[in-house]
Amino acid sequence: MRAVKYHGVHNLELVEIEKPEAGPGEVLVKVAYCGICGTDIHAYNMPGIFDWELIPGHEAVGIVEAVGTGVTCVAVGDRVAVGPPGDCGSCYSCNTGHPNTCCNAFPNTLGIGPNTQGAYAEYVLSKFPQNELFRIPEGIQLEQAVLFDVLGVGFHAVRRSEMKVGDDIIVTGCGPIGLSVIQTAKMAGAKTLIAFDLLESKRAMALKAGADYAFNPSDSEDMAKAKALLGHTGGAQVAFEAAGHPDSVKTCVELTMANGQIVLVGSDGRPYELVTAALGPMEYDLKFSFTYTKEEIHMLFELITMGKFRTDLYSIEKVELEEAEKKMIQMSRGELDVARVLLMPNGAM
Ligand SMILES: [Zn+2]
Ligand SMILES: [Zn+2]
Repeated sequence: MRAVKYHGVHNLELVEIEKPEAGPGEVLVKVAYCGICGTDIHAYNMPGIFDWELIPGHEAVGIVEAVGTGVTCVAVGDRVAVGPPGDCGSCYSCNTGHPNTCCNAFPNTLGIGPNTQGAYAEYVLSKFPQNELFRIPEGIQLEQAVLFDVLGVGFHAVRRSEMKVGDDIIVTGCGPIGLSVIQTAKMAGAKTLIAFDLLESKRAMALKAGADYAFNPSDSEDMAKAKALLGHTGGAQVAFEAAGHPDSVKTCVELTMANGQIVLVGSDGRPYELVTAALGPMEYDLKFSFTYTKEEIHMLFELITMGKFRTDLYSIEKVELEEAEKKMIQMSRGELDVARVLLMPNGAM
């Protein structure tokens, strides 16, 4: 079968390898779409994220091709999502309702963890199907379901916060994850929901996703308008940082009320200069948010089926496996204005 291998920074190769077989307890999935995630792009540009010889691809959907003996969670022909979190189900985090912070997750997570192979390939082998595969309900198309990673991260961030109905909310960064935060915060009952992005096109999407206002954080007049809107409390109750940029963290700090909460959802690996003497008197709560749980993906799939969560806000571009590296280069340079590029290792299925 054809697969794309990571040989190191700026080095991907389309290779021909043996098609895996489903051993006992394993499931083989024929890949329909695999999204190129921001994590993949960081790994393409920065050393130390992926192991060499890894096949990337941790957000995929496809059809179950074969099941090994003892597998009961899925059957041949089922439409499934394949991806993180590859939680172990037995560590302290898993046993206390936080499988997304499972200490054993990375070695189990396809397409990211060491010694795992992801879905930039015609077929992907799931060794822990109970934890890695989600059956896709009828009524959701595969190209909607493949967004589970993008949608899940934003959805989890709001559930992880202590946001309450009626709170004023700000979201900095209106890329795909920011849009998911906006949709979720709106659903959760935000009173005034203010989004920030440097790009006009992204601000327009934020308004479509449910933001009441969308401002440019580099425009002093826009910042003054935001401050006026939040003036009665001195800032938002909860700020979600979804750009993964130090300046975006500063915007959150500037516009959060005393005793408010700042949730860091985005990160691009850079350290943030955050702790200054000015923060102490504000008693901010700083929270981190990481991926999502299986339960949350099931909820999201139901919300999509019910028409309560929009997927049409996320522009997609479908390409053949051969184009993986070209698309990664274009995305690294910021030349592609799409929410997700979807690889189609088996062509149109
Ligand atoms: Zn991802
Ligand atoms: Zn665990």
